Amino acid sequence: LLRPRTCPQNGSMLPAKSSLAQLQETGRAFEVEHECLGKCQGLFAPQFYVQPDAPCIQCLECCGMFAPQTFVMHSHRLPDKRTCHWGFESAKWPCYLHVNQKYLGTPEEKKLNSLLEEMKEKFSVP
Ligand SMILES: [Zn+2]
Ligand SMILES: [Zn+2]
Repeated sequence: LLRPRTCPQNGSMLPAKSSLAQLQETGRAFEVEHECLGKCQGLFAPQFYVQPDAPCIQCLECCGMFAPQTFVMHSHRLPDKRTCHWGFESAKWPCYLHVNQKYLGTPEEKKLNSLLEEMKEKFSVP
């Protein structure tokens, strides 16, 4: 699950990174995080989430792109026993993925939370 740091120094090698950064500036992408099997923060671009396994979350640490279900299994840190989920299943990623805590208490918190909930339900089977 762990990947080496592959983020190139030269951003031109990874167009996804610059485009995601631009998307964040225009307010369409926002930061998310999970604390499963180790904590990880990423940038979620809703417009890239066009199918259940579409890579739409970029890890802030290694710049890799992940689908939501893959992202909750991705981490650069060892699991914290206090937050480790008993019976972890990546298929339950909507339970594990949250907006970045930096948004907590800000005017954006509510908007981003509902946007994330929308994304979680986008491909969910009733
Ligand atoms: Zn990573
Ligand atoms: Zn969790």
